[in-house]
Amino acid sequence: MTDDESLGFATRAIHAGQEPDAATGAVVPPIYQVSTYKQDGVGRLRGGWEYSRSGNPTRAALEAALAAVEGGAAAFAFASGLAAEDTLLRAALRPGDHMVIGNDVYGGTYRLVARVLGPWGVEHTAVDLTDPHQLVDAIRPGQTKVVWVETPSNPLLSVVDIAAVAAHARAAGALLVVDNTFASPALQNPLALGADVVVHSTTKYVGGHSDLVGGAVVVADGAQLPAGLEGPTGTTSVRDAVAFHQNASGAVAGPFDAWLALRGLKTLDVRMQRHCANAQRVAEFLAGHPAVTAVHYPGLPDNPGHELAARQMRGFGGMVSFRVGSAETAVALCGATEIFTLAESLGGVESLVEHPARMTHGSVAGTALEVPDDLVRLSVGLEDPDDLVRDLDRALAAATR
Ligand SMILES: *Cc1c(COP(=O)(O)O)cnc(C)c1O
Repeated sequence: MTDDESLGFATRAIHAGQEPDAATGAVVPPIYQVSTYKQDGVGRLRGGWEYSRSGNPTRAALEAALAAVEGGAAAFAFASGLAAEDTLLRAALRPGDHMVIGNDVYGGTYRLVARVLGPWGVEHTAVDLTDPHQLVDAIRPGQTKVVWVETPSNPLLSVVDIAAVAAHARAAGALLVVDNTFASPALQNPLALGADVVVHSTTKYVGGHSDLVGGAVVVADGAQLPAGLEGPTGTTSVRDAVAFHQNASGAVAGPFDAWLALRGLKTLDVRMQRHCANAQRVAEFLAGHPAVTAVHYPGLPDNPGHELAARQMRGFGGMVSFRVGSAETAVALCGATEIFTLAESLGGVESLVEHPARMTHGSVAGTALEVPDDLVRLSVGLEDPDDLVRDLDRALAAATR
């Protein structure tokens, strides 16, 4: 009953894959902190559990829950978001293949594609995916096997039309992957819009408390590998290929991190409502401040992605970025806040501030993904919104003095 698709998001987030423990009735899946399982005779496994790289009940509970909240056929939990991405891309691509990625994707994603997969023979083109013409021009017929979308994107919060990109990817025989980390499954479900695969850094909103590093791949029902590719188990199913690679490469989520991610997922719905409300308040404050030259937040009515986001998402999210005219002011501002903590990462209960050009996006300096050096990025947390606005007001005054 708990993966019934007629159930609402919050109900699935709390119950899917969370049957009370069969042995004890514990209402929360226990942390199975174990590497191996006793066999009742050679090859006679109890419940199929053999070795914790191949499968672990705590991880399996998280995977069932993530599949349910994204509307996927299966989910796979990894040690980090990048481990999830790496495993997926090596399952879906071969040397000589080409991928198209958004030109403001997460810096670590770009580094993986350009500097790890590149030397193994995977080519890429980074384009502005908010412009369908750029996507069409970048697709190389017969060679483009993956289209990679991040929406809203990081750090500029631009919004890509998932359904429109899906149509182009499908026509090209390429797999459409959406990094749904910024929206979280509470606000956006790309598989329902035509994506084949969703990836998450569960480090961020899913975990939600800045206390774990984790990632996930969620696969749509029936998703097929790019045209012409047969997976290692002899099928063309993405699900089979990722399952094989998860075990064969082994970058799995450990039981405790899986348990923390599950715990976070149960409150994701209410947390995202507050993240959205606080971010809207902060974005409106910044838009009216004389020292701020631009605010990037899809919840602002004059944002170019506003209408699309209103259609495609169930809220505008908790991330806001803005420009302050110079790198010096941006750096000073990042050092002047008291409630917003200067740190990388995002999606936790506490508000964070950072300078993308020198922090999260340092690895893309000098590439097509370079970000403006006067940009400041906020992860708006769950504190009282009046306190957040006061903190920014004070810090802007100090930084522009
Ligand atoms: C953080 C992040 C990742 C990478 O995840 P890790 O858990 O840090 O490996 C990927 N995509 C986005 C959008 C992110 O914010």
